[in-house]
Amino acid sequence: MSVLVYVEQVDGKFKKSVFEAVSYAKAIADIQGSSLTAISIGNVGEAELKELGKYGASKVLNVSNDQLKNFINQAYASVIAEAAKKESAAVVVLSNSFSGKGLAPRVAVKLEAGLVDGAVELPKLDGGQFLVKKTAFSGKAFAITELTSAIKVIALNPNAFGVKESAVEAAVEAFSPEIKATDFTAIVKEIVRATNKVSLPDAELVVSAGRGLKGPENWGMIEELANLLGAATACSKPVSDADWRPHSEHVGQTGIAISPNLYIAIGISGAIQHLAGVSSSKVIVVINIDPEAPFFKVADYGIVGDAFVVVPKLIEALKAH
Ligand code: FAD
Repeated sequence: MSVLVYVEQVDGKFKKSVFEAVSYAKAIADIQGSSLTAISIGNVGEAELKELGKYGASKVLNVSNDQLKNFINQAYASVIAEAAKKESAAVVVLSNSFSGKGLAPRVAVKLEAGLVDGAVELPKLDGGQFLVKKTAFSGKAFAITELTSAIKVIALNPNAFGVKESAVEAAVEAFSPEIKATDFTAIVKEIVRATNKVSLPDAELVVSAGRGLKGPENWGMIEELANLLGAATACSKPVSDADWRPHSEHVGQTGIAISPNLYIAIGISGAIQHLAGVSSSKVIVVINIDPEAPFFKVADYGIVGDAFVVVPKLIEALKAH
């Protein structure tokens, strides 16, 4: 019996959420007294693969196959399931990222496993029960889910557990599972990166703005503030609906759910559907002209003021340091 963790790569590199998933999987392996194997798909260098040992993976299965260079949901799910069978994995861990959200249910079906997505804590083994805490109702509540299946699939919410080092020597092993032609019904030919900005789902700092900004022409100061902080930019739904900003920046119940260390909300009222995607941020700063704006109720720090006055002052202060 072992624990398997899927390590998602982007351009041959691992993101912080991967190290977090490995740390989390290692903690589960320690609870179960088993070893941790990572499965990497795509062209990742030996040095990067070995670095996974730093977070607890003692073995890394490396699938290097040109057909799998770009992410393909069905094919990747088949590879992960095959790796789980090869390792007799009792638990399979993924990050609850864009691709993890698509992969986890597919892997669970292939392994006839129970699934918990959006896990926020380590499983608790209570009198033979395997209990996992997860977010529910778009982040408005938590649910404790019992997994009763022999194999368990867990998708961990980014930023819920943190990265923990455990210094294990990782052995890299080539893995070439058989992949069926039916796994390639939709093929990603090329990925063209739209911008080089910080990626929103993984960002530790996020500067977000809403309809209070009045129009797309006023986003220069938001971009500038984000650049100075090394933050990603986000927005409310009406802003992306009006095409002021791309849909990839829309956070909330119907957009991306994020949990950065710092979320700065500028000119956003704090509707429940918006909060659903951002309320698990570690620190929330709200800048709003209306002292009655609902967002202030969940803010750690609030500035009642005009964004067009406050944001330039913040930029000035950051530049002065
Ligand atoms: P507004 O509600 O118009 O708020 C603008 C804020 O800016 C106000 O608080 C105002 O006081 C402030 N302001 C104005 N001028 C200034 C100034 N000069 N300086 C500082 N502050 C200023 N919304 C999402 O964001 N994400 C979702 O995923 C989402 N999903 C939804 C799903 C459903 C089914 C439904 C029904 C709605 C959803 N919504 C979602 C919409 C949500 O209900 C709100 O309408 C939306 O979040 C409001 O966006 P906003 O705060 O930018 O705009």
